[in-house]
Amino acid sequence: MSDCIFCKIRDGEIPADFVHQDEICLGFLDINPVAPNHVVLIPREHISTINELETRHEQSIGHIFTVAAKIAKDLEMATSGYRVVVNCNADGGQEVFHIHFHLLGGRRLSWPPG
Ligand code: 5GP
Ligand code: ZN
Repeated sequence: MSDCIFCKIRDGEIPADFVHQDEICLGFLDINPVAPNHVVLIPREHISTINELETRHEQSIGHIFTVAAKIAKDLEMATSGYRVVVNCNADGGQEVFHIHFHLLGGRRLSWPPG
């Protein structure tokens, strides 16, 4: 059995507020949002970090960006703007080691990140 929190969400062992589900990826609300709109998008397949991505993942990762753009439109932030972020390992601030894409918006985001 996997100890991965996001695999448990995928498998329904931990509840989540889903905003998107398909055969490739899932989107759900972040439990600790850092922006008015904060969705986490994950591939169904467990991949630990960006560093483990392989050529065979390119289609599913590309699909996640298409889904992110659709959700951004549904949340009415496509025109005002938003950000898609992937954290990697310690310096990147990654805490959950199942690759995920933060979709952030609903306020003006600062740059550079802290
Ligand atoms: P990371 O720091 O790894 O890039 O982001 C992990 C994100 O997952 C954090 O924003 C954190 O709030 C979120 N998170 C951690 N555990 C859970 C959970 O059990 N449910 C949900 N919905 N989000 C979670
Ligand atoms: Zn996982």
